Amino acid sequence: MKTRVVCAEQGLDEAVSLIKSGELVVFPTETVYGLGADALNPEAVKKIFEAKGRPQDNPLIVHIASVEQAREIAREVPPEFYALAERFMPGPLTVVLEKSEAVPSVVTAGGHTVAIRMPRNEIARKLIALSSPVAAPSANRSKHVSPTAAEHVLYDLDGRVPLILDGGECGVGIESTVLDLTTDIPTVLRPGAVTADMISEVLGKVSSAGKIIGVAKSPGMKYEHYAPTVPAVAAFDEIKAFARYDEERQAGGNPVLIMRERHRAAAGGRSFISLGDTPEECMQRVYAALREAEKDYSFVIIEGLNGEGAEASVMNRIMKSVGGRVL
Ligand code: AMP
Ligand code: MG
Repeated sequence: MKTRVVCAEQGLDEAVSLIKSGELVVFPTETVYGLGADALNPEAVKKIFEAKGRPQDNPLIVHIASVEQAREIAREVPPEFYALAERFMPGPLTVVLEKSEAVPSVVTAGGHTVAIRMPRNEIARKLIALSSPVAAPSANRSKHVSPTAAEHVLYDLDGRVPLILDGGECGVGIESTVLDLTTDIPTVLRPGAVTADMISEVLGKVSSAGKIIGVAKSPGMKYEHYAPTVPAVAAFDEIKAFARYDEERQAGGNPVLIMRERHRAAAGGRSFISLGDTPEECMQRVYAALREAEKDYSFVIIEGLNGEGAEASVMNRIMKSVGGRVL
């Protein structure tokens, strides 16, 4: 299959036809690029799993173009959903509800719940509005770093999808927050740009993250490695990071530091890829930095972030990308 990369506006009509005829389309969102298919067509959705090499038990997010469309996808849409929608939709928040009959089980990996999101990207919403609700995971090969630019998608999926809509760099940069509304207390299953604190301003009590999230509840989480193709470690300490770098260098390796801009001067002449400085910049850049690093270097030392909120969400992805290895 030949893969074409087309400017998002220009490729929209063709993308709509492809989705309607049961084919795959890669489209830009504000979080990361998505690999989409008609969410109501099981044969189309199966192609997503094939193109990514994704395990069948990892469910997909159904993307909608309007808040009202949630009613087609969910068995029942609770008032909490509308309250969240008011504040965060369209945007990087995915909400898990009981699924409707219309959603094929391949989308939910056999489960009775479905993850729903309304992306902020206008082209993404037009694509959905003109075709169908679109099931989509991130548009990377399974286990690789998520793509935040069309070139990242092409690198992973060339020959596996007919069309990539190029909408430039993703503004948010990591996958959406996943919030489960089917539990007694709403539970953050995956942290993201919309933080648990922000959600609790709307809903009151929210339980959060790692300790509570069960593999059974969010089956996909165990597969998400976001890993670069070269070995990587995280370092919370500048001195340790530089020492490890020098060691690697002396052993004949070609290491690189991925750190916040504030460490550049201290890094001296060492190879350095910047994460920017604010938590939002780190979020936006982290995946592109990992992809750049794996292309040009043999060993990655990435800065660990200690903060709460957005910083903690970035750190969640960094820990997965280094497989938990910390200096
Ligand atoms: P991706 O967009 O590639 O990050 O994949 C979607 C992710 O959303 C999955 O790996 C799960 O972690 C999460 N997800 C999708 N559907 C559900 C669901 N029904 N319940 C809980 N988590 C879900
Ligand atoms: Mg993914």
